[in-house]
Order: sequence, then C-alpha cells, then structure tokens
Amino acid sequence: AAQKQGRRRIAHFEASMEAALVRRLMLESELNAALDRGEIEVAYQPQVDLATGAVTAAEALMRWRHPTLGAVPPGVFIPIAEETGLIHQLTAWVMKRAALDAVAWPQPIPVAVNVSALDLQSGDVPSMAVAALEAAGLPASRFELEVTESAFVGADPVVSEAFARLRARGIALALDDYGTGYASLGYLHRFPFTTLKIDKSFVDGVPDDADAMAILQSVVVLARGLGLRTVAEGVELPEQRAALAALGCDIGQGYLFAAPVDNCTLHRMLAEERLAATG
Ligand code: C2E
Ligand code: MG
Ligand code: MG
Ligand code: MG
Repeated sequence: AAQKQGRRRIAHFEASMEAALVRRLMLESELNAALDRGEIEVAYQPQVDLATGAVTAAEALMRWRHPTLGAVPPGVFIPIAEETGLIHQLTAWVMKRAALDAVAWPQPIPVAVNVSALDLQSGDVPSMAVAALEAAGLPASRFELEVTESAFVGADPVVSEAFARLRARGIALALDDYGTGYASLGYLHRFPFTTLKIDKSFVDGVPDDADAMAILQSVVVLARGLGLRTVAEGVELPEQRAALAALGCDIGQGYLFAAPVDNCTLHRMLAEERLAATG
C-alpha cells in the first residue's frame, strides 16, 4: 500500500511539475508579446523624508497586466525576462516611460528605476539611460538607478565601467535590498553608490527585535560615514517610522506612506503635496 501511495504521490508530483512547466512556457511566450500589446505598465512608489514627511523621490516598479491571467508579479516575470533575454527591452522601455512621466510631475523629484544584473553586465545601461533622459528632456540629476547586490558577484569590470559612466553623467546609484545578498562592506566604498536601500527584512524587526535594531543602527552609521543616503524599504508601521528616524535613517518607503500607484495618482499626490496613506 505504501508503495502504491508513493507511486501516486510521484505521479501527482510529475503532473504538477508539468503544469508548472506549461505555465512557465506560456508566460514566456506571452511575455514576448506583452510590450507590444501594451500590457506592461509602471507603478510609482513615493520615498519620504523621515524628518519632514516630504516626498523626495519615487521608485518605478514594473507591472504586467495580462488580459486573462491578471496581474503577474515582477517576482515571477522578471526572472523569466532575464532567462529569455527580454529584460533589456523591458528595462529600456521602463527607463523611457519613467523619464517621460517624471518630467511632467508637479514636483521636480527624481525617479528611481531598477536595473537587473544582466543589464549591467551587458554594458548597455549607460547608453540606455542617456537615451531615456534625452528623449524626455529629463535632467540626469532627476534619474537614479537601483541595483541589487547580486550584480557584483565576480566584480565584473564591465559593471565598474558602467557605474563610472553613469556617475560621470550625474546619475545617482542605489544599492537595493542591502543586507540580503553578497555585497561585502568593501563594495560600499569600491563602487560609487549614492544611496543605500536597507532591505525590508531588517525593517520588519523594528522596533522590537534588538538584533535588527543593532544591525540597522550600524548600517546607518556606516552609510553616513561613507556619505551615502539611507532609504528604509517596506515601512508599514508608525513605530517603525519613529524608530528609523531616531536611528538617523534619512528616507522611508512603504505602505505606511503609500503603496505603488499609477502615474496619474502619483501626479495628484505630488500636486496636493499629501500622500494617500498619511493625508
Ligand atoms: P524592490 O526593488 O526591492 O522593490 C520594492 C518592493 O517592495 C516592491 O515590490 C514594492 O511593491 C514592495 N513594497 C513596497 N513597500 C512595501 C511595504 O510596505 N510592504 C511590503 N510587504 N512590500 C512593500 P514589487 O513591485 O512586487 O517588486 C518586487 C521586485 O521586483 C522589486 O523589488 C525589484 O527587485 C523587481 N522589479 C520591479 N520592477 C522592476 C523593473 O522595472 N526592473 C527590474 N529589473 N526589476 C524590477
Ligand atoms: Mg528597487
Ligand atoms: Mg528594494
Ligand atoms: Mg526589496
């Protein structure tokens, strides 16, 4: 009986593997057409000065609205885009869209765009960014790129070169999801970052978890010593905001202030100078 049950379980496992594979292949071919069909959109999430409550920037977050599957999360489609090579087209498109949207915002705040490690390793990021800025007429001082730690594995000279070109242009660079990956402390001064985004997993522990508080405090002190701005990701509670501000963290981003919203909504928030969640 046990053997029979085992066999059934394997059959079930294979069937669900097959379903996952079919879904995956389907997403892959659908993603190929998504840009042309206008299914890719950009949402914007405000970043807020913890001391004053002013919006200091907005992060562009890619959205895929599939006609029958609904919203496909970036955690699902970005890895597929990376494996199929579609990521470059998507990144170039988001940069262009974000620059065009930002140039019309009622406050001259920067827009931050996420770039994938693969984009950076291709060496095309500086020319993609410059093309987006020029097409929109957006000054480089209003453009920032967010890079996750995995981009530096192997300390690729192509990546260093891309960073140097971006900084020479006046484009800001943020190290995203800090604390989750492989970035050693050494990377912080070896690469020309302007901003350090502290991962949500540390923010979650604030203010009750003493370890998370200690880590945050040392990261904030370290960042300040290196002349980097600190942004805390995933701020959801007023107690987190208060504790982060007390630790000296500069900026917060999270549902407490606002979820990612469409461009029209952000436009209205910036015009009214208040956020949905806090106003
Ligand atoms: P990320 O760059 O770290 O972006 C922050 C993520 O946290 C976003 O998820 C945002 O919606 C979510 N978030 C913000 N505030 C809160 C909060 O208070 N609580 C919680 N639970 N979550 C919060 P999203 O939009 O699903 O994006 C996930 C990841 O996908 C991003 O993480 C980024 O790594 C990647 N991604 C998104 N858009 C792009 C893009 O245009 N290009 C690339 N290469 N990656 C992107
Ligand atoms: Mg990001
Ligand atoms: Mg992040
Ligand atoms: Mg994150």
